[in-house]
Amino acid sequence: MDFELKIIGSSSATPSINRNHTAQVLTIGNQIHLIDCGEGTQMQLMRYKVKHQRICNIFISHLHGDHFFGLFGLLSTMHLQQRTAPLTIYGPPGLDELITLQAKHSNTFFSFRLTFQELNTSVYKQIYEDKFLTVHTLPMQHRVVCCGFLFREKLKLRHLIKTKLPDFLTPPQLVYLKNGGDILDEAGHVLVKNADVTTEPNRSRSYAYCSDTRYKEDIIPYIQGVDLLYHEATFLDNMRERAEYTFHSTALQAATLALKAQVKRLLIGHFSVRYKDLTPLLVEAKEVFDNTHLAVEGKTIGLLE
Ligand SMILES: [Zn+2]
Ligand SMILES: [Zn+2]
Repeated sequence: MDFELKIIGSSSATPSINRNHTAQVLTIGNQIHLIDCGEGTQMQLMRYKVKHQRICNIFISHLHGDHFFGLFGLLSTMHLQQRTAPLTIYGPPGLDELITLQAKHSNTFFSFRLTFQELNTSVYKQIYEDKFLTVHTLPMQHRVVCCGFLFREKLKLRHLIKTKLPDFLTPPQLVYLKNGGDILDEAGHVLVKNADVTTEPNRSRSYAYCSDTRYKEDIIPYIQGVDLLYHEATFLDNMRERAEYTFHSTALQAATLALKAQVKRLLIGHFSVRYKDLTPLLVEAKEVFDNTHLAVEGKTIGLLE
């Protein structure tokens, strides 16, 4: 099953000619999740051939314009193209009101069922679950209420070793073995030991999205060991005071968090427009955490099982 992240935009505050505001697309199986939706996102989705009609959930981290000003435009296009599939938007308090007001005064009655899930951004909490995946909020520290998101695949089924399976097992017993149980006889003795007839399940993959925020070590337990961490790195560390003042992070801080949380790979983004060349941000982060990459538009990262 696919587990793939695509960067749609990575600029902070004001957009630049080469960088759009923040948006990312996470494809898991046949589900597409949109994370943040800065201005111009729908144009970027077209550019990168992401079919917006396949988006099933939208996660908005906070209500600064660079993370949600593209939302109403995208919803309008979905409506004009007569979307019928329901859509759920997860976001902080106020987002429902903002979108509803725009719809009201533009006389827009969406062609699809639109549901808002208001988030408590100050806690780590599960907000979404399907057959394969859970999503939790990650509390951020920013000038307005803000949360990141942790996407984690559920534990997968163990693999049966067909040549070692006794003939007498029933279909429910096979399911039980896939879930890790031993098969017992009526007296409660182990009849078929799980470890003898199954092998380890495929890996469960995870992605943590952390933007916008000050350096915040208390999220480490939640993101410990994730396959991929996206962390904002608005500034170089020589601007640490400005980062602190504006509730943002530096490339060095993002890398420090990645190191301390022992993540496998770090992606930095949300770059200030002052950086025309992003190389110094990458170099700074790599000095602390070598497996760092830039979240440049169009970049795709697939996580293997
Ligand atoms: Zn921002
Ligand atoms: Zn912000």
